[in-house]
Amino acid sequence: MRELIINHKEIKVIETTNYDLQKYDTIRVNSYGEIVIEYTCYSRWSNPEPFIKKNIPFIQKQLDTLKKTILPTFKNESVVYLLGRKYTVYRSKRIQTVRKTKNGIAFPRSYTISNIRQYLKDWLEDVLDIIYYHYIKKYNLETVSFHIIEAHSYWGICHRSRKSHFKDYIKFNTALIFVPIRLVEYVVVHELCHLKHMNHGQSFWDEVEGILPDAKKKRKLLHSYHLEWLLERLGVKRR
Ligand SMILES: [Zn+2]
Repeated sequence: MRELIINHKEIKVIETTNYDLQKYDTIRVNSYGEIVIEYTCYSRWSNPEPFIKKNIPFIQKQLDTLKKTILPTFKNESVVYLLGRKYTVYRSKRIQTVRKTKNGIAFPRSYTISNIRQYLKDWLEDVLDIIYYHYIKKYNLETVSFHIIEAHSYWGICHRSRKSHFKDYIKFNTALIFVPIRLVEYVVVHELCHLKHMNHGQSFWDEVEGILPDAKKKRKLLHSYHLEWLLERLGVKRR
């Protein structure tokens, strides 16, 4: 790993080589503000600096977006957006059970991060239950069960078993608790539509946009959330 100075700031650079089918060298900023370069095996860059210099405006833009993202913390008292609403979250030694009001959530002092994660997971499950079955009913979609998990690379995923119909299910990421409800809705509709089309082809998008006309806008918005970063706030270790 190297370090480079960009706009007077030291930035880590992680370089990897992709031996698969990747055609071009890629560069991005990860949720920790590090530059990640993925070379192809035919790469012409022997040193990352010129490649980075070529992409400075793009990198700067990504770093700025990162700064704007509201970082949820669960320290003594913190302000955090949950399902699009602002809450002050704190721990209190005077209570034995969680107290939730319109703008605040108090956790018993004994609550660990995994207790908090479980609480948020249960809450998300209640919300998903309503959204999920609402869309199934309204659009007469196939019903499969859903689970909530912590995954590092997706917000939702649809499993279609080729053998048994009973093994089909959908998984949603616990980190969805940090995004606004309208984006949670988009993830639900996206995964439910995969039961009809197991790809991202035109007919899949026609299906999704038939239900949510601004689905692609929502998808873009969702991608501005840093999954890895949010998971870390839930006490989920980095990969
Ligand atoms: Zn998909």
